[in-house]
Order: sequence, then structure tokens, then C-alpha cells
Amino acid sequence: MSAPATPAWLAPETTALSAVFKRGRFPHALLIHEAPGAGGDWLAAWAAQLVLCQNPSQAPCGVCIGCRRVQALQHPDLAWLRPLEESRQIRIEQVRELSAELALTSHGGGYKVGVLAPADALNRFAANALLKTLEEPPARTLLILVATHPSRLPPTILSRCQRVRVRAPPRDEGVAWLTATRGAGDWNAALDVLGEAPLIAAQADPGELAEVGADARRTLESLAGGGADPVAAAERWARAELPVRLLCFENWLTERIRRAERDGAFLTEVRAGPYLSAAPTFLNIRHLFGLVDEVRDLRATLDVPLNRGLALEGIFRRLAPAARAPGGG
Ligand SMILES: [Zn+2]
Repeated sequence: MSAPATPAWLAPETTALSAVFKRGRFPHALLIHEAPGAGGDWLAAWAAQLVLCQNPSQAPCGVCIGCRRVQALQHPDLAWLRPLEESRQIRIEQVRELSAELALTSHGGGYKVGVLAPADALNRFAANALLKTLEEPPARTLLILVATHPSRLPPTILSRCQRVRVRAPPRDEGVAWLTATRGAGDWNAALDVLGEAPLIAAQADPGELAEVGADARRTLESLAGGGADPVAAAERWARAELPVRLLCFENWLTERIRRAERDGAFLTEVRAGPYLSAAPTFLNIRHLFGLVDEVRDLRATLDVPLNRGLALEGIFRRLAPAARAPGGG
């Protein structure tokens, strides 16, 4: 595999990290704070390649054995921790194993790297165990934490990491990177479905994504208009493509929040005017924010199959017009 194309929106971060590395001032710990699907894991792998590359003057070269092993997640000096499937948490045993591993001499005589992604999946005990390694890191150790919600991590951990922000890319840069990485396709439609999350879109088929997205939107519009049955819709969603549908749901709600904010600002300007009609406003902003939180919680607990149909049905009911009638909560 050749060097992966650097997403344009990450170029400032890779340039800055390269410069610090060349000066021999690389931090022991990085916290990559990423917008969902904007490339946090990509940047973590890039930073691991930077310190493990065998061509230091061109690091990361992308072609040496060190870079290729990192790319395949098979480098003996790299440990990549993910949540255990059944718990969705990174647990203390995993962190202890990582700490023991980092304390050993490296195989290649250079750095040892530990990546925790997503680090917001560290449970309390695991976070405490990690703190010990962060406080007294062995020489030439790099810990990389990737998180979309760093505020869920203890401040004692945050204060020991150098923070790198990865923001959602502008649409044209996301589409350009997807085209370069995956080839031509209707990536614009795919990002309409997912939001600005090109690294998630890269794992999907753009045509299928657009289809699932269009179907999800139809269902949501229909539910919001009172024309669909929440029970049947929830059952149908729970059966297939639920993760993509939920991303689409979140994106759909976010769009409505933006629209409501825009209209709200407009209405404030004309409040004294005779223009305010008695027409009911679509879902109010507080209601929308509440729904976004519920959809995110559901996405975080997706592998508890017993609950998801019911939870989804509950959210769908709150979309329906009766649930947001005046005085109806
Ligand atoms: Zn290399």
C-alpha cells in the first residue's frame, strides 16, 4: 500500500506535528479531539507512522516496513486499543496490558506507541490506570487518545495531553478526498446523508448510502407530519442499516436546528410586526436538541439489541405532531 492521501483539512495539523518532531520536541501524549468521521483515527495512524518510520528525513514515508506495518495495525511497537465489543468500554485490564507493554524495550529500538480510540470509551478505572503511565511515561513513548467528547475524560488526563483539534472538513475537501481515495461516486449525496464525515463515508458504497439516506428522510418527514406509524417504522429501521439511519437522523435533526435558529433570529427582528401568523412552529429548538441527545445515546448503545427497537420507537413517537402540541410537553 502506498502512502495514504493526506486529507487536505488535516494538512495544518500534520505540518505542525512534523515540525515539532523534527525539532526533537514531540510530546509524550496527544489528545486528538475530532468531529465524528473527520479523521481522528487517520491522524493517530499518521502520527504513529511519523515516529516509527524508518526514513526519518521523509517521515512518514508511507512505504517503509515501519509505515506499512502501522498501516496494517501489525507493528510490534504499536498497540491500538478499542472498546471491547460486549461492553463498548476500554477496560482497566486493557490499559494495564498496554502500560506493561510500553514499559518494555521497543522491538525496533525506537518509539513505542499506544493509541486509544475512542478514548471517551475509557471507563473510570481504566482512565485512572492510564493516568499513571501519563504521569511517568517511559522514554520514547507516545500515547495518542482520540475522542469526539473529550469532556468525558478526567481533567487530570486532559491536562497531560497536547490537544490537536480535528474539525469537520468543508464539503468540497471531503468530496475531493473521497474521490481520491475511493474513486468517482456521488460523494456529495453520501455526505448529505452522513453530514461532514468523509472517513465514515469512505467505508460505504455511495449509491447505497444515498438510497438508505433518502428512505430514512422520507420516514422522518412522514413521522414528523403524522403520516407514519412509529412502531412499524422503528421495527423496519432496527432490522437493517441502523447505524447509517441513525447518523442520517442526527444530521436531519441538526439541519432543523440550524433552520429553527435562522428563523428564530428572523422572527425576533419582526416580533413587533403584524407578520406573526398563528401557524404552529415545527419542532422547537429545545425539543430538537433533546432528540439529538437521544439519537446519540442510542448510537452509543447500538449493540444492545433488545433495547434498540423500543428506544427508537420512543424517539419516533416524540417526533409525531401529537407529542409537540401546545401543553403536550
Ligand atoms: Zn516510513
